[in-house]
Amino acid sequence: MSYAALKNKKQPKNTAHMTSSQENPDALPDAAGLKKLPKSPKRWQTLPVADMLQTLAETYPDHPMDDATGGDPFKVLIGCIISLRNKDDVTIPACGRLFALADTPETLKDVPLAAIEKAIYPSGFYKTKAQTIVTICHDLIAHFDSQVPSTIAELLTLKGVGRKTANLVLGLGFGLPSICVDTHVHRISNRWGYVNTKDPDTTEFVLRQQLSQDLWPIINWVMVRHGQETCKGIGARCDVCVIESHCAKIDVKARKPVAEIPEAFKPTSAKIAQARMSPTPAPAAPTSKQRRTAR
Ligand code: SF4
Repeated sequence: MSYAALKNKKQPKNTAHMTSSQENPDALPDAAGLKKLPKSPKRWQTLPVADMLQTLAETYPDHPMDDATGGDPFKVLIGCIISLRNKDDVTIPACGRLFALADTPETLKDVPLAAIEKAIYPSGFYKTKAQTIVTICHDLIAHFDSQVPSTIAELLTLKGVGRKTANLVLGLGFGLPSICVDTHVHRISNRWGYVNTKDPDTTEFVLRQQLSQDLWPIINWVMVRHGQETCKGIGARCDVCVIESHCAKIDVKARKPVAEIPEAFKPTSAKIAQARMSPTPAPAAPTSKQRRTAR
């Protein structure tokens, strides 16, 4: 699914159980300790964030988790549990193997634990995650009529689900307004000088205040890929960044320049040809002492 398709995604019909936090996502119930949000740098008001996000959306049209889950809320939820502390090249095949076994709470709860562990291996903490997945299936069946709930408050009651996962399920699974702040979104929005925060949860609340709601779904969509490929935690590739001119590069350490090889040491085509022509020197014959030791 492309980002354009996500924007047109149908929202769940049954919203009768939605909490006030969902009807008004600014009124978050669990903002305890975050009542006083840190002040953002002044530049946040003039930063052309919409243009920057659009540029990134054109650069990274696909979302790795969406590819693995097809935007199905249950698969997004389980995929997010598998993805914790994993890279995509582990998460996506693991999701494929697990969903080939079962892809609903009723069917997945009956898969033997060892088979779930095997399917999601080599995902980090695969034994704990397998247990969490089974518990989630039982809880969905017992408390939510086998449906994934569509509010942050309800999602947070499920084992292993934090704000990041809850927001991803809302956004990717239901197409509802949400901001999924993972390590990439947290790091990049701080580097831009758009927020000044110390942890992802605080970043989420600040972004909810500052970012126009129509941009909420796109921010995770594009920043995950941008963070994986360009704005890396260590060694940001600002030299090839498509939004470099707008970025304040707060606390970004310049990449170490690649050491130039002196001309005299660079292999010329003549030297390479000569090396290919030269026969490999025969190994030296063992000395009498080496022969004695070998015996
Ligand atoms: S310019 Fe550098 S720090 Fe800024 S977004 Fe691009 S890669 Fe990240």
